[in-house]
Amino acid sequence: MNSVATDVTQERLVVTEIPGPKSLALHERRKNAVSAGVGATFPVYIERAKGAILVDVDGNHIVDLGGGIGVNTIGHSDDAVVEAAFEQAQRFTHTLFTVTGYESYVRLCELLAQHTPGTFAKKSVLLNSGAEAVENAVKIARKFTGRPGVAVIDHGYHGRTNLTMSMNFKAMPYNLGFGPFAGDVHHAPNSYPLHDKLSGAEAAARTISWLDKRAGATDLACLVVEPIQGEGGFIVPADGYLPALQKWCNDNGIVYVSDEVQSGIMRTGAYYASEHFGLVPDLVTTAKGVGGGFVIAAVTGRAEIMDASHVGGLGGTFGGNPMSAAAAVQIFEEIEKRDLLGEAQRVGRVLGGALRELQKKHNVIGEVRGIGAMQAIEFTEPGTDTPISDIVPFISAYAMKKGLLLLSAGTYGNVLRFLPAVVTSDELLLDAVAIIDEALSAR
Ligand SMILES: *Cc1c(COP(=O)(O)O)cnc(C)c1O
Repeated sequence: MNSVATDVTQERLVVTEIPGPKSLALHERRKNAVSAGVGATFPVYIERAKGAILVDVDGNHIVDLGGGIGVNTIGHSDDAVVEAAFEQAQRFTHTLFTVTGYESYVRLCELLAQHTPGTFAKKSVLLNSGAEAVENAVKIARKFTGRPGVAVIDHGYHGRTNLTMSMNFKAMPYNLGFGPFAGDVHHAPNSYPLHDKLSGAEAAARTISWLDKRAGATDLACLVVEPIQGEGGFIVPADGYLPALQKWCNDNGIVYVSDEVQSGIMRTGAYYASEHFGLVPDLVTTAKGVGGGFVIAAVTGRAEIMDASHVGGLGGTFGGNPMSAAAAVQIFEEIEKRDLLGEAQRVGRVLGGALRELQKKHNVIGEVRGIGAMQAIEFTEPGTDTPISDIVPFISAYAMKKGLLLLSAGTYGNVLRFLPAVVTSDELLLDAVAIIDEALSAR
C-alpha cells in the first residue's frame, strides 16, 4: 500500500507564520459553514500527519504534543494501523455487528479482556465514543444492580451527552445552558494533593462520607472515576485514595467503573492506568487511543455484570465498526511487537525529567505530575497554591508560533498537559521543553 504521509520528516519546521495564509483562508470559510459552538484551539489546518508531526496546509511541520487529545498515542497514521484498516475497507465497511458479525469485533473483545486489569472472566461491548462508553457503563451497572444512583468525583470529565454532561464537574464550556441535566448523579470531593493536602486515606474518607450522606450507598449503582483525571488537569490522586474507594464499592455492592478513556491503552506506560494504583475495576471504559484515530470505544468488565442486560439492550448502528476494530486489533499487536509500553515509559522519563528541571528555574511551576506519556505542569502563584490562569494561554500561543502544539487542561485553566505519541523522539521532547522555558522567560 502506498501511504501519502510516509515522507514526513520528524522535525519542527516553520516556513510561514503560523497560522499561515492557507490556514487563515480556510478559517474564514469555516466561519461561514461550521457552527460557532465548535471550538478551534488553533486556527491551523492540517494537510497530513505522521508520527509526532502535523504538517499544515502551508507546509509547516508542527510537533504535536496533544495527539488530538490523547488519540494518536501510537503516532499519526501509523503504517501498520492504516494498512489494517485499509485492508478491511477493501473487503467490507459495515454489516452492523448485531445483524451479522465479523472476527475483528470478537478479537478486539478478547484482547480487551486480556489486557484490562483482573484475571476473572470478562466481556465487552464496542461503541463509538468515550461518552457513549460511559453512558453504557452506567446503563449496564444500573441493570445489574437494579439501583438508580450514579456517583462521580469533582474535577472529573465524562463527555458531552446529556448523562455525561450531568457527570462533569466543569460547567463552562461543557454544560452551561444545555440543561436540564440527568437526575440521580451525585458529585463528591476528589483527591487533589496539591490543593487539599490530604492523604489518600483522608481524602477517601471525605469522598465516602459525602456519598454515604448525600446519596446513600444502597441507592448507588456505580461510582465512575478516572484513575488520573484528564480534562481536570492530570490530577494524580494521593496514594491509597482509589483503592479505598474501590473497597467501599466492593463492600456495598456498587459497581466500580474506571473511566480510562484518556488514560488507557499504553498512555501511562501500562495498558491501563488502574494498574499503577493496584485497582481491579468491575468495568473499564476505553476510547481515545485504542483506535489510533479510527473511531471506536468499549466497555469491558466482569462477565456477570456485562451479561446483565437483556438481548438487544446494548449496541448501536456503528458500534465496533469493522475498519476501526481492525485498526484497534493491530494497535494491540504493535504494542507487543514494538514494546510501545516501554516507549511510553521512555517519554515519561525524558519529558517528566526535563519538566522537573524546568521547575527549578521557574517558581510559577507549582507541580509537575503524571505517569508515562501523560505529564502535566500546574502553574500557581509562587509559594501558594493559587492558580495562575493567564500563563497557559500565553505559552501555548507562543509555542504554536514556533511550530509546537501544546494543550491546556484543568478546572482553572492553569495546567499545561502533554499527550505525546509514544514514538516522539527524546530530541523533540527536549526541544519542546526548551520552547516552554523560552516562553516563561519571555512573559
Ligand atoms: C474524552 C473523554 C471522554 C469523552 O470521550 P468522547 O470520545 O469525546 O465522547 C470521557 N471520559 C474521559 C476520561 C475523557 O477523557
